[in-house]
Amino acid sequence: MKIEEVQSTTKKQRVASHTHIKGLGLKEDGTALGIGSGFVGQEQAREAAGLVVDMIRQKKMAGRALLLAGAPGTGKTALALGIAQELGSKVPFCPMVGSEVYSSEVKKTEVLMEHFRRAIGLRIKENKEVYEGEVTELTPEETESTTGGYGKSISHVVIGLKTVKGTKQLKLDPTIYDALIKEKVLVGDVIYIEANSGAVKRVGRSDAFVTEFDLEAEEYVPLPKGEVHKKKEIVQDVTLHDLDAANARPQGGQDILSMMGQMMKPKKTEITDKLRQEINKVVNRYIDQGVAELVPGVLFVDEVHMLDMECFTYLNRALESSLSPIVIFATNRGICNIRGTDIASPHGIPVDLLDRLVIIRTLPYTLAEMVQILAIRAQTEGLGVDEASLAFLGEIGDRTSLRHAVQLLTPGSIVAKTNGRDEIAKADLEDIAELFLDAKASARLLQEQPDKYVS
Ligand code: ATP
Repeated sequence: MKIEEVQSTTKKQRVASHTHIKGLGLKEDGTALGIGSGFVGQEQAREAAGLVVDMIRQKKMAGRALLLAGAPGTGKTALALGIAQELGSKVPFCPMVGSEVYSSEVKKTEVLMEHFRRAIGLRIKENKEVYEGEVTELTPEETESTTGGYGKSISHVVIGLKTVKGTKQLKLDPTIYDALIKEKVLVGDVIYIEANSGAVKRVGRSDAFVTEFDLEAEEYVPLPKGEVHKKKEIVQDVTLHDLDAANARPQGGQDILSMMGQMMKPKKTEITDKLRQEINKVVNRYIDQGVAELVPGVLFVDEVHMLDMECFTYLNRALESSLSPIVIFATNRGICNIRGTDIASPHGIPVDLLDRLVIIRTLPYTLAEMVQILAIRAQTEGLGVDEASLAFLGEIGDRTSLRHAVQLLTPGSIVAKTNGRDEIAKADLEDIAELFLDAKASARLLQEQPDKYVS
């Protein structure tokens, strides 16, 4: 298994609107700041979430999960993300909605399993031996080729590396030539070459080079030169799902028919249970050897009442596993039927799972809080907006939903630009407030004038 090739597959879009949330914004004593780490209001819920973070740190949440109960748009997603951030900056956060498990192609438990693995991180630390320094000499030594008859071939590459301890000449394998060309390495660059694999990385340009070719100066950051030969710790953060995906091979065997099948669908890969077990084995070995460290992240399951018995049974079992992330459920339902049954239960969750839950309630925002959140969002998105506009948007948020008000910021700034303004003014927003309907208004319109729409 080659971990170096792994690319992260984090779901980026869903968290994009919450980028301003950097934590829970709590003081040393655990009480909430009015505004902190991008978080506004919702003090009680944030303080309770802070206690949950402490429980997680003390490993007291094993086998348990958190439920956030509150109306839509009361910051449940923001709260779950805040918890993940408090646990550490590289802690995976994987959001999903209950209804995502229903797909015609994939089993429900398979969808849950994938999300579980997206929420479990692995930090891999490798000590690599590297040559690092400023390139003073770079010459491919060419010899007459004896086999091909096409003249010259490269027999080895000579590199001079200057460091604080002096200059050293390295005579390296010809295969390194391709890596040097790929990294566009020139004399004057600061590079490091991995001793084992021969991988080359250009990390900067020397001061001397920068003064000589001033035009290119800003592109390259001059770096302090290290020793010629040293150990460098390389840390990589991946999730178990990243490893699954990177190691999944196109399905099918070696016979002609399945090979043809693979040609038709070259991208199709399958993550099987067997593959996951193999990955777990390797991961456990790495952990035992101290090469890797497990980083349990946060799996956020919104609209948990959309899950059915089969999913809940799976979840109960998965929470017991040693490879489990912190699971945070969210719902806006009170007592309702467990999906697919006529059994009524709080939040549509069966009692055996309810028993495992710590519950936090979120409350609706005041107008002033909405205005503050809108101001933070505008700032994060780099949009200028005046006081009157913020107040106007706050009112829209109060009447419709906070999410809708936040979403009006971007079109607002476009209209402002069209009107020759850098800052969003109330007039720009009045225009677009009429153009874009919020969900409630849209539903009302459909109900009032059913004959005008195709049903
Ligand atoms: P829920 O999950 O309860 O529906 P949410 O967290 O998804 O709520 P949205 O309705 O999407 O919240 O909120 C719109 C925007 O307001 C998002 O950018 C969100 O990060 C932000 N937001 C919500 N609550 C707060 C808060 N208390 N402080 C700062 N920003 C918030």
